[in-house]
Amino acid sequence: MMTVQQIKSFAVGEWVAPDSGARTISSAITGEVIAAAGNSSLDVTSMLEHARKVGGPTLRALTFHDRAKILKALAEHLGKHKQVLYDLSFSTGATQSDNLVDIDGGIGTMLVYASKGRRDLPDSNIYLDGDVEQLSRKGTFLGQHICTSLQGVAVHINAFNFPIWGMLEKFAPTFLAGVPSIVKPATASCYVTEACVRLMLDSGLLPEGTLQLVSGGLGDMLNHLDAQDVVSFTGSATTALMLRSNPHLLENAIRFVAEQDSLNASVLGPDAAPGTPEFDLFVKEVQREMTVKAGQKCTAIRRIMAPEAHVQAVIEALSARLSKTVIGDPRLETTRMGALISNDQKRDVLEKVKLLSTEAERVFGDPDDFSADGVDVNNGAFLPPMLFHCANPDSAKRVHDTEAFGPVSTVMGYRDLDHAIELANKGKGSLVVSVITHDGDVARKFALGAGAWHGRIYFNNRVSMAESTGHGSPLPHMVHGGPGRAGGGEELGGIRCVMHYMQRTAIQGSPDILTAIGGSWIPGAKEIEGPAHPFARKYGDLVIGETMHTDARTITLGDIEHFAEFTGDNFYAHMDDEAAAANPFFPGRVAHGYLLLSFAAGLFVEPNVGPVLANTGLDSLRFMKPVEPGDSIKVRLSVKKKTKRNNEYGEVRWHVSLTNQADDLVAEYELLTMNSY
Ligand code: NAP
Repeated sequence: MMTVQQIKSFAVGEWVAPDSGARTISSAITGEVIAAAGNSSLDVTSMLEHARKVGGPTLRALTFHDRAKILKALAEHLGKHKQVLYDLSFSTGATQSDNLVDIDGGIGTMLVYASKGRRDLPDSNIYLDGDVEQLSRKGTFLGQHICTSLQGVAVHINAFNFPIWGMLEKFAPTFLAGVPSIVKPATASCYVTEACVRLMLDSGLLPEGTLQLVSGGLGDMLNHLDAQDVVSFTGSATTALMLRSNPHLLENAIRFVAEQDSLNASVLGPDAAPGTPEFDLFVKEVQREMTVKAGQKCTAIRRIMAPEAHVQAVIEALSARLSKTVIGDPRLETTRMGALISNDQKRDVLEKVKLLSTEAERVFGDPDDFSADGVDVNNGAFLPPMLFHCANPDSAKRVHDTEAFGPVSTVMGYRDLDHAIELANKGKGSLVVSVITHDGDVARKFALGAGAWHGRIYFNNRVSMAESTGHGSPLPHMVHGGPGRAGGGEELGGIRCVMHYMQRTAIQGSPDILTAIGGSWIPGAKEIEGPAHPFARKYGDLVIGETMHTDARTITLGDIEHFAEFTGDNFYAHMDDEAAAANPFFPGRVAHGYLLLSFAAGLFVEPNVGPVLANTGLDSLRFMKPVEPGDSIKVRLSVKKKTKRNNEYGEVRWHVSLTNQADDLVAEYELLTMNSY
């Protein structure tokens, strides 16, 4: 007899074994009970307090970069030990390629957040959101939006289908935001998540209280949350509705992010007739999305839309591909589609299939007659891929609102592109819709007509197919979520997701106050005179606001002509007085903007070898006022911001302004240099 694994929770620094409140978990392959999880006596209020009092303050004391470094090390640690997770994951019915999506995909997502944290966020614990707003005429009273970490805890409730990716894609941005997590995986696959949490804790990289785990039921934890907490839910629309209607959450305006199921569609473009590369691509993508994770993907294609004239060809081509999909024991290398998570899930899918059958005809796959390699299909949760054809998609309801969370999809014909858009939108909000087309006009019309109903639109064709990432892959860089039926939530999307765990606050005050809060110098704030030329000062010695003023330099007509001849830039505004004067922007011949930049550098650069290693760029350049021959310019150079890059050097962002003899602003920009320590 198989031993039943006891899946523990991790609460207030201790592993807690299941007790009388435990639920059993079965193998997807054999149907045998393999584990038990759940603890009715879990002290949920102490868990919340531990996160708020211990985990939160420690995390908030770290900068975004410190947190990003921990995430990177954690991802590398998981990468080294992932075999443990692969081994366990087979029992969820996942094949090795499904494991790559879940386990390697989760680790990869964490790595992307680690690198985005270093690149897109400051080495600080305050994030500046957008530009400074000028709120007064003279600039002594300004506005700026900042984001700071929520002071509570994030409760992550996850679906069963991605026990690792589901946890890590939420954990990484939450950690980066400086907020501790309590993770509650779906019970059916929580043994894989538990093993991953063990690896993360064993790494010794995580500060205490920043990650806790609830295996089994959550008890009444949601009733103890407050307005500094966030619930981030992934699962079915029914559970989301039940949880988000919790009166305590509503009364306290507690953030609730929902990623639900959706009736995602894939559209064969009107231009993608049989024989085109797009037609073959479409069939390949649909077959893949129907069978990866045995169709248990929130982004799986549930509705297949093709021009009416090509419906039969699509059914034939898809059926041919699906018939080659080897079903069987997920541990076998030859298996292309494993099992559903459980026999309960299989029953649920078969019930949904019955509903779909009232509006659509099954044209491929028979749940009562199929074979699977190396397993007894009567014990495990196996099903064949099933393809339906709906002849009347306009009057149908079930095909647009019933999610059979398994390898099930329905083909339907459309008359023209407007009709395809109408059908795609009948899902009432989806995570992703794909359009396989080689026609830019089709793509634009579709994006306009369908954009508001879908979280992501994936266009693919002969140009992008070799490198495209797949209809069903949420990427850390791009928003994952969708309106309406899909839950109205947004996850991922790069740094956007980090902001779900932070509070945006509008700050108003003088330039000095805003500079002190944001750590980024604002014109009008105090200028600090340094002990030497700023280019002679090491990265660590430079202070925010350190400023130099240069001497003035007069621009002559000879300078302009020399520059024109030297560079070949003979644009009429610099060379032809009459033509320049006829232009609404110029009084007559004016200096080249690039000439001014070059002269500015000549005015502020310190020529000797020193801490400035390289000029790495220039941002936000604006020319405000033309400079005529005879005008003179001078430069103010101020340290705006500093960002450590490694142990040898860091980036200095300088605010540079050029003014003329009347002190009018002529040009303004931000200069980037790498400076050694
Ligand atoms: P589910 O039954 O809705 O469960 C989702 C999560 O909610 C599980 O962790 C579940 O825990 C928990 N839960 C249920 N009742 C709860 C309660 N009273 N209090 C606290 N937590 C509770 O969904 P599922 O069957 O796991 O996952 C499949 C569904 O998820 C599909 O509909 C799929 O489309 C959707 N999904 C969506 C996304 C997305 O990103 N949008 C991703 C993956 C899956 P227990 O397991 O312990 O009941």
